[in-house]
Amino acid sequence: MKRISTERKTAYYLGMILVGIGFLLFFSVFITGAANFGDFSNFESEARSSIFRAVTGVALIIIGGILRGIGAKGLAGSGVVLNPGRARSELEPFSRMTGGIVKDVLEEADVELGGGSPETVVKIRCRECGKLNEEDSKFCQECGKQI
Ligand SMILES: [Zn+2]
Repeated sequence: MKRISTERKTAYYLGMILVGIGFLLFFSVFITGAANFGDFSNFESEARSSIFRAVTGVALIIIGGILRGIGAKGLAGSGVVLNPGRARSELEPFSRMTGGIVKDVLEEADVELGGGSPETVVKIRCRECGKLNEEDSKFCQECGKQI
């Protein structure tokens, strides 16, 4: 079973926190803007701080979102590092989370995943007891009669 590394979990939660702070900063602009509405005594510095908070808030939301994506999908999986092989293994826990149901359905429908033909198993039925034995077995596993 594949495990998501601590670094990726940290990146994921850090990203969530950044997005949260970003939203708070962004909306604080409207909250303070509404609270100070009509009060233009220090309009210029207020406007400057509002723009700063809005821009920082949006930047944090974007950076946090990217970080969270990297945490969830891994560096290669999110396309930061071009490495298809690594991307596949990094995406694996993530796609298992989201695509698990699809995979189950495909498996149920006997769709072969990941290539390779299924092995053909030849069995020999015992004439005495009807037990299915391995192709190369000389004696029945069930009753011991020669096949
Ligand atoms: Zn038998």
